[in-house]
Amino acid sequence: MKIIGAILIALLNLIIIGLFATFSPVAAIIAMFYIVPAIIANKKGRSFNGWWFYSVFLFFIALPHSILIKKDIESIENELLSEGMKKCPYCAELVKGEAIICKHCGKELIPSC
Ligand SMILES: [Zn+2]
Repeated sequence: MKIIGAILIALLNLIIIGLFATFSPVAAIIAMFYIVPAIIANKKGRSFNGWWFYSVFLFFIALPHSILIKKDIESIENELLSEGMKKCPYCAELVKGEAIICKHCGKELIPSC
């Protein structure tokens, strides 16, 4: 699903840049800036696609908004957990799935937890 969404966004991006390009090449370059708030928000654990749409319609609000929002630690953690990281039961920091000792607190981790 993530890949389909990314392809759709890339196509929409091309269409919008293409529309702007019919006016002038400068407008096409400006249209590429719509991706900036989406990248910033995505690094803070927010939906890239959602923020891209937000940015297309309300760029001058979305840009400062994306800079001002706090990191969504829960969603960043969930993504890392789905990528094979695990949470140390002692200090609650994320460590690699294969780790047997926590790099944050030094406690021994029980395998398969
Ligand atoms: Zn720990």
